[in-house]
Amino acid sequence: MAIKTIRLKKGKDESLRRFHPWVFSGAIANLPDAIEEGDLVVVESHEREVIGVGHYQIGSIAVRILEFGADALPDNFFQSRLNAAYEMRRGLGLIRQDNDCFRLVHGEGDFLPGLVVDVYGKTAVVQAHSPGMHFCRQEIADALLNIPEAGIVNIYYKSETTLPFKAQLDPVNEYIVGGFDTNVATENGLKFNIDWLRGQKTGFFVDQRDNRSLLQHYAKDRNVLNMFCYTGGFSVYAMRGGAKMVDSVDSSAKAITLTDENIALNFPGDTRHRSFAIDAFKYLADMKDGEYDLIILDPPAFAKHRNALKNGLLGYRKLNAKAFDKIRSGGILFTFSCSQVVTREMFRLAVFSAAAQSGRRVRILHQLTQPADHPINIYHPEGEYLKGLVLYVE
Ligand code: SAH
Repeated sequence: MAIKTIRLKKGKDESLRRFHPWVFSGAIANLPDAIEEGDLVVVESHEREVIGVGHYQIGSIAVRILEFGADALPDNFFQSRLNAAYEMRRGLGLIRQDNDCFRLVHGEGDFLPGLVVDVYGKTAVVQAHSPGMHFCRQEIADALLNIPEAGIVNIYYKSETTLPFKAQLDPVNEYIVGGFDTNVATENGLKFNIDWLRGQKTGFFVDQRDNRSLLQHYAKDRNVLNMFCYTGGFSVYAMRGGAKMVDSVDSSAKAITLTDENIALNFPGDTRHRSFAIDAFKYLADMKDGEYDLIILDPPAFAKHRNALKNGLLGYRKLNAKAFDKIRSGGILFTFSCSQVVTREMFRLAVFSAAAQSGRRVRILHQLTQPADHPINIYHPEGEYLKGLVLYVE
């Protein structure tokens, strides 16, 4: 079947010339007949120069370019991209015996828009965010098994909630290779029970690895509150860092069970840890002044879309204001936003407003982001989603 061609309106090739990998629907001059979601298409400028080849879908982002300057994908496309992604992480020292969980593919950051792959030991969890990647899942799985030295033997496909529902692809979450294996993975020498079957996203937030390490360095002798703890990642690192006590809070009872399991896995019988299944705002309102001198706020994305931006920013301001009100003098606040639409500046402004409201003396110690296995394609700044501030509060 001949590959279909999409021609752009005049001048609408500008951002693509700068390697931004998205074609917005408004830039398209004409869609070929019988085009279907997930089709591989060639994108041409108005002057009929080939710009690249990518996956088509219905929506505001109409094409995600996989390869620039070509009118077809090479035969070994997925294998070579996946090998390169693995090799980069190996070369950066991210894949070690004491660190066998990492993000192998971070969409545009690995020149594979629409695809996310997280590796937990011998299991890879694959998430398609585009119909094109959904249709390529078997090819992707085959290539994952063939990455030299990666040792992947199970592949769990988990795209029920990540594919555009209008595409009516009805993806099923299932093993497409192998089956259930041990689900204990190691991050910087700490053990985590990872529930990719029922957990959020791919089961674990590998993106906080470096930030958890940093937290460990500040945890000694502190009273720690890990708010929105999910699997208890920050709590486990705080325990290793010598915290006096650690309280983990999440509104989900399932998350609290996971946290308790992970604490027990690393620090069996250690009485420094307590956990609470309760709403964050309720907990913050009820807690005593000065109870904690190290607080982590890592909430879910408050603004998932541009039209939720205003409320999202208000949410960050309110949440942080509570922490500024209650944290002990000399305390350290780790505060995050994982909303893609909230820029670094917007987040800083929301936290600044919250600080000003409290009237306390606040200084920025660190400005945090996502780790090296979540690289940001420089031509695709939207790939930067995790923002964090470490603040010293007096
Ligand atoms: N800090 C975690 C990731 C947090 S994900 C890590 O390092 O892995 C966000 C978590 O916030 C989820 O576990 C979700 O259950 C929890 N959550 C969402 N709304 C909440 C609320 N209102 N109060 C408390 N927890 C909430």
